[in-house]
Amino acid sequence: MEELDWNEFHLDTQAIRAGQHRTPEGEHAEPIFPTSSYVFGSAAEAAARFSGKIPGNIYSRFTNPTVRTFEERLAALEGGERCIAVASGMAAIASMAFGLLKAGDHVVCSRGVFGNTVLLFQNYLGKFGVETTFVDLTDYTAWAAAFRPSTKLMFVETPSNPLTEIADIRRLADLAHQHEALLAVDNCFCTPALQRPLELGADLIIHSATKYLDGQGRCVGGAIVGGQELLEKQIYPFLRTGGPSMSPFNAWVFLKGLETLGIRMRAHSENAQLLAEWLEHQSWVDRVNYPGLKSHPQYELAKRQQKSGGGIVSFEVKGGREAAWKLIDSTRMLSITANLGDVKTTITHPATTTHGRLTEAEREAAGIREGLIRIAVGLESIDDIKRDLSSATL
Ligand SMILES: *Cc1c(COP(=O)(O)O)cnc(C)c1O
Repeated sequence: MEELDWNEFHLDTQAIRAGQHRTPEGEHAEPIFPTSSYVFGSAAEAAARFSGKIPGNIYSRFTNPTVRTFEERLAALEGGERCIAVASGMAAIASMAFGLLKAGDHVVCSRGVFGNTVLLFQNYLGKFGVETTFVDLTDYTAWAAAFRPSTKLMFVETPSNPLTEIADIRRLADLAHQHEALLAVDNCFCTPALQRPLELGADLIIHSATKYLDGQGRCVGGAIVGGQELLEKQIYPFLRTGGPSMSPFNAWVFLKGLETLGIRMRAHSENAQLLAEWLEHQSWVDRVNYPGLKSHPQYELAKRQQKSGGGIVSFEVKGGREAAWKLIDSTRMLSITANLGDVKTTITHPATTTHGRLTEAEREAAGIREGLIRIAVGLESIDDIKRDLSSATL
């Protein structure tokens, strides 16, 4: 098969074809290689591969053809030179941190990130002498003020969970580079189908493949995307030594998920936009957070930075926790679960689940109020989703 330059192709094409290298069997679909090790032609060849003198598979902790196909495909989608696939989204963040940081280094991170990301930076990196300062996502003065001579990394998740606040990636990238630091963006909510942070100046992209890349709630996985030099020299050696590897079976499921990424993300956004507009007109709703609404505080930025609003909508019901729980319990079809990025619509109460480990004061500061509900809008009929949410009388 002729080797094509996937950078010349559109995202929908890359998502289906990039990274596949047909074997002599001529298979049409991507094969799974469930093998832990590989056979060498001679002792000399084994030595040459282990030392990196010649390329080729060595051991599936760090070289597997199915995993490599997933890596090449995701790299093409993000417009990155290199991708490293790992066992989960958290393993991606941990591998990036272990690869890049050392004791005495400092990180600046947005406050609205995934809960385990906060714990990883605070508790575990903290234990190894890496300090993290948390700042409000949209407070650029606070981002700038947090810098120290030892700051090596800025980390941001945009849109934020569950309030869908948007950070200006280009502005943060410029700030990071002024201070010779790197900017990492967790692109889990938008995926490359809606937002391409490397084009906006980011240095690294983090993915939880568990969410929209799989798209159907089956496997746990993650990835880091960025420049060849940075990933090859600083992060890949950690994968080889630390071992948070993606299994070839999971890589294959993610490859199948990626094939429909473009159409799924368009459909998620379309459903979410309709739901958000409908929620804004319900008497029992106080406010709706969705980047595709004109009422969103960063609506203009979202329009510039993202192709559409994405699949996550959050809203506050009147009547606090009692009303929120009543609404959640009144639904008959929606799944009560904190997962997201699935074709099935999920509904969750952030204050008592994803953000339940924060103190009340921390929740208040983060804007996670008791009446807040988050919906990860799936691909069921929007009429059925609305009907399911209408059955409660609050
Ligand atoms: C789920 C999630 C993660 C962690 O990913 P896992 O695959 O669950 O380890 C990180 N960031 C964001 C934004 C997420 O939603």
